[in-house]
Formats: sequence, structure tokens, C-alpha cells
Amino acid sequence: MRKVLVVVDYTVDFVAENGALTCGKPGQEIEGAIVRLTNEFIANNDLVVFPVDLHEQTNQFHPETKLFPPHNIRNSPGRELYGELKSVYESNKERIIWMDKTRYSSFAGTNLLQLLRERNIEEVHIVGVCTDICVLHTAVDAYNLGFSIVVHEDAVASFNEVGHKWALDHFKNTLGANVLIK
Ligand code: ZN
Repeated sequence: MRKVLVVVDYTVDFVAENGALTCGKPGQEIEGAIVRLTNEFIANNDLVVFPVDLHEQTNQFHPETKLFPPHNIRNSPGRELYGELKSVYESNKERIIWMDKTRYSSFAGTNLLQLLRERNIEEVHIVGVCTDICVLHTAVDAYNLGFSIVVHEDAVASFNEVGHKWALDHFKNTLGANVLIK
């Protein structure tokens, strides 16, 4: 089955100690697993996409404005990829598809669905942060669009431990996802 690795929002603002909306330690602990999976998918010639949250400095109309402090602002250091993933991306730019997204789901307002359909990809592997927000909404959309879903438990994280556990159960029991534990 043809597959894609979707690496959601693994940026400084969502992961680093001083990130604007950080998952903190749980987010930092999945760095190795995300780097390993990215390298594996590239080595196997499978598709790799990096959907990355994008906000403008001043946009009073965005629904997240009322919910969260400013984060992942265009051209800010907080929007850069976190840790080793940044250099993995820099050295594989022709193999990794960067995708600006402005909503939780990686499918909302992006060309992800077209990329998958034109390549006959049926299996969507999801990693990144946060398990119970952007990873969750991406998984729900993948489910509704008819994809098989694989979530790598050692490569997703959240600032909310309860939400993280709930989402893992939801992937398995409600979306029929294969939740892989390394
Ligand atoms: Zn956001």
C-alpha cells in the first residue's frame, strides 16, 4: 500500500522550552522518533509532507486569536522546525513537501488531498504535535476521506496528558487507526 508520512507542526513554538504554545518535555522527547521516521520514509521513496501552522501578526478574524497566544507567526523564529528536524529538512528539501496550513487539520486549505489522490496513496501515517489538536483533526479528516490511518505513539505529544491519552484511544477505537508502539 502506498503511504505518506505527515509530520504535523513540529516547530519551535510548539516544542521548544520557550516556545509560545509549547508541549514542553513530551514534545521534545519525540524528536528522535520523528527524525527516524522522516529518514525512513525518504529512504523508502515514500511521500513526506510537513504541514506547518501559519499565522499573521495581525489577524483579528482568525478563530485561534481568541483561544491561544500568538504562535507560528510568519517569518518568526518560532515557526522554524525544532531541533534536528530542521537540518533533516534543509538537506532533503527536494524530497519533503512543506505545506503552510492555517487550521488544525493538515487537509484544511492545503493541497494535501490532491497530492495523495494523484499518487494513489491510501495509508496516512501521522506524527507530530499536538496529539489532541492538530494531529487529531488531521486524523479525523483522513478518516472521513477514506484513508487508512497509522499513528506512531512514540512520535506524537501534547501539553495535555489527559487529552493525549484520550486522542490515542480515539484514533484506535473510533477512527480504526493502527496505533503503533515502537
Ligand atoms: Zn495555530
